[in-house]
Amino acid sequence: MTPFWVAGKAQTGSDELTVTHPYDGRVVGTTSWATPEQVAAAVAAAAAVADEAAALPAFARAAALDHVSRRLAGRADEVARLITAENGKPLKWARAEVGRAVSTFRWAAEEARRFSGELQRLDTDPAAAGRLALVKRVPRGPVLGISPFNFPLNLVAHKVAPALAVGAPIVVKPAPATPLSALLLGEILAETDLPAGMFSVLPLPNERAAGLVADPRLPVVSFTGSGPVGARIRAAVPHKHVTLELGGNAAALVCADWSSDADLDWAATRIATFSNYQAGQSCIAVQRVLAHRDVFDRLRERVIAKVGALRTGDPNDEATDVGPLVSEDAARRVETWVSEALSAGGTLHTGGVRAGASYAPTVLSGVPADAKVCADEVFGPVLVIAPVESDEAGFAAVNDSAFGLQAGVFTHSLRTAFAAHRTLRVGGVIVGDVPSYRADQMPYGGTKGSGEGREGLRPAMDDYTEARVMVLTGI
Ligand code: NAD
Repeated sequence: MTPFWVAGKAQTGSDELTVTHPYDGRVVGTTSWATPEQVAAAVAAAAAVADEAAALPAFARAAALDHVSRRLAGRADEVARLITAENGKPLKWARAEVGRAVSTFRWAAEEARRFSGELQRLDTDPAAAGRLALVKRVPRGPVLGISPFNFPLNLVAHKVAPALAVGAPIVVKPAPATPLSALLLGEILAETDLPAGMFSVLPLPNERAAGLVADPRLPVVSFTGSGPVGARIRAAVPHKHVTLELGGNAAALVCADWSSDADLDWAATRIATFSNYQAGQSCIAVQRVLAHRDVFDRLRERVIAKVGALRTGDPNDEATDVGPLVSEDAARRVETWVSEALSAGGTLHTGGVRAGASYAPTVLSGVPADAKVCADEVFGPVLVIAPVESDEAGFAAVNDSAFGLQAGVFTHSLRTAFAAHRTLRVGGVIVGDVPSYRADQMPYGGTKGSGEGREGLRPAMDDYTEARVMVLTGI
């Protein structure tokens, strides 16, 4: 049984938690749920070590983060196979996730070395002549990190790495379906010289996580997951510093000038790949494709062909592009949403078939904008393609969403790129590619129903800390 981590120590809890492979249902590991006493011990240790952690020198924080990065790189194959086993994503995407986590920790180590404060002159006003402010950032206190199932390693990394970089203890609650990658990260963290109370990784059922959210000794809550759970957390602790990384229904807009055969081949390849990577279970998977009327038919034909050519099947096979969803329930929900879209007048071009937890990569068109596959987050391998009459109408269609995480804009025009950046109400505009592009060190997060706050190391480090000013007088 895989242990979990309470204040840096391996422990087992009460009831067993069995982790199964989404593809074939076989047991891939077991761990156990943390007991209320173990949860209490983890939180008490985080609170007790907070001052010591905040005082850790930069070289010590950076050394721990570098160690994690190196160890993940050294164990990359094993870690990728573990991610595939518990999450079901194809091995090639699991390997990509490990590579990203390696870089997330490496960046955090670099940022830990750089993270300082600023000197601010105050003598811009006669009344403040002779005064100078020294602004340093201090941790707000221990962080609670709650993570989803779809990136079971790298989204945990995006909470743990910035916390350790600023010297904040962290308690992680991984998703119940995919705890093993986070527990392996705990094992690597335990090899470092960090004070023991600085990290805990606690498998907990959803209904028992609410107590952790409410605990006043964890003043920062960093949540990545679905909108409804995020809204519940926001409402439960209005006084806490909360970061919400929620869902989306990301759009790719193909503009009129993106019109050569090579342009459209590239756009179609990227759209087909990133609508279906991880079976569409990414918050920035391409869900809505909007194409200028002038290029619509040529793009649609290519997208259908490329989606139809994706290799589906066993995620343990290196050649598989699209594996199962996380559960049969998830695949059934997608099946229902597609049926509703077809009943509402949509056309099915490819896919539309479920087998257990797997759902075939699917392309729809002619779907009313209020159908769930357009308006909600499908979180499955389904894209809806629609024409727009102008690039500006495309911007309006991108914005016609309850979400605002990222958007992709295929254009060669700088003017259109700047117009998109100005107009689109999203956290990121990706020019010349799909909305699914993310570099781990860039600010990342959403607006509207996609959440609040940004991750990406430096923004999270700012979030986990607050300014403390010292004013020097008479200098
Ligand atoms: P989820 O909301 O069901 O669960 C996320 C986490 O919250 C899990 O650890 C879960 O156990 C926990 N949780 C559930 N109920 C809770 C409660 N009442 N109190 C405290 N914690 C609770 O999400 P999921 O199905 O695991 O993940 C998919 C969702 O995550 C999608 O909506 C996806 O878009 C979103 N997501 C967003 C980002 C982003 O960066 N914006 C990244 C990945 C995933």
